[in-house]
Amino acid sequence: MQETCNMTSPTTVSHVAGEEILSWAAKDESGHLAPLKISRRPTGPQDVRLKVMYCGICHSDLHQITNDWKNSSFPMVPGHEIVGVVTEIGLDVECFKVGQHVGVGCMVRSCHACDSCQLGLEQYCPKVVWTYNSTDTADGTPTQGGYSAVMVCNQRFVLRMPPNLPLDASAPLLCAGITVWSPMKYFGMVEQGKHLGLVGLGGLGHMAIKFAKAFGMKVTVFSSSPGKEKEAREILGADNFIITKDNEKMKNAAKSIDYIIDTIPSAHCLDPYLALLKTNGKMVLLGVSTEPVQISVYSLIFGRHFVGGSLIGGIAETQEMLDFCGAHNITCMIEKIPITYTNSAMDRLMKSDVKYRFVIDIENSLKE
Ligand code: NAP
Ligand code: ZN
Ligand code: ZN
Repeated sequence: MQETCNMTSPTTVSHVAGEEILSWAAKDESGHLAPLKISRRPTGPQDVRLKVMYCGICHSDLHQITNDWKNSSFPMVPGHEIVGVVTEIGLDVECFKVGQHVGVGCMVRSCHACDSCQLGLEQYCPKVVWTYNSTDTADGTPTQGGYSAVMVCNQRFVLRMPPNLPLDASAPLLCAGITVWSPMKYFGMVEQGKHLGLVGLGGLGHMAIKFAKAFGMKVTVFSSSPGKEKEAREILGADNFIITKDNEKMKNAAKSIDYIIDTIPSAHCLDPYLALLKTNGKMVLLGVSTEPVQISVYSLIFGRHFVGGSLIGGIAETQEMLDFCGAHNITCMIEKIPITYTNSAMDRLMKSDVKYRFVIDIENSLKE
């Protein structure tokens, strides 16, 4: 994000000192969200200030508002799939201009000096600052996310949204999109004709299908929800759809898959999925369960199987993914909701009742 660019634009002074910014927050681990006014820092020399238009609801928001990961601080304004319009830029910002469509994902700061940062993998930086539920190392204040009318972010963590894509349906690319893109690229899940197994068809999962189809792969969905089959096949383009409780179909699919992406957000046994892998097959875990997952060594050594994990993606690869989506017209399938529906959306997310990402219409519904 530090490349030279010659974008010039006037800086408009949209920030009012002491301005109270309308947001929705969880006040405790009941996870119930309610209106809260917060402040944002004035736009510093390196900052981009944006009017938030839309924010996706990631299952990680649900984990954190309920303190599932035992590291939550309250009050917490969740949201790390943030898209909006630039309203003000700092004096040293050259690559963004007022009025531009931009996005902010899961991170807002890192050290830029460690090995991970040097590799463009800021998400693995020991000093990474998350978009919310984190402490900003610059000023010691808690970070707050995108269920909020305004966001201020260091320019190095601001992404350029493809101008040809609708902003609302692009918001989930900032987490769901990059979280599947990064391991697909790193583990080589991009080869035409290879067979991808996708476990758990929610926000992350539906983007894995979209990317796999764009790469020319065959996709089989492994799901607990029969009601998702029709759309998975007809709209998302999945080649096959198997309900994981159907032992017969699971048995017939043994040794047929090259790669598996697993997005289940709770503890489960990996063995039935490892049985699906061909020799040398790879499985990547993305869901964040608090309890250990179960795995038998036999499932690994008989087949030289590999199991790994992956955390979101770096800023440069996020921009690469966004540009790819712009070039291939790839967006997310969303259910757009007013912010007043957010608690109901969280209840539905808990029950896997999501097709396939809730996106909050911040601009039109976050009002006094
Ligand atoms: P989501 O939209 O809720 O989708 C998860 C899907 O998993 C559900 O739709 C459901 O699909 C399946 N599922 C849910 N509970 C299940 C259960 N108990 N047993 C079997 N299947 C179940 O969630 P998401 O936003 O895609 O996130 C998925 C997980 O990834 C979460 O844990 C989230 O925190 C994590 N995450 C990780 C990263 C990372 O960097 N690694 C980034 C973002 C999110 P079916 O209806 O098809 O069964
Ligand atoms: Zn997320
Ligand atoms: Zn670093």
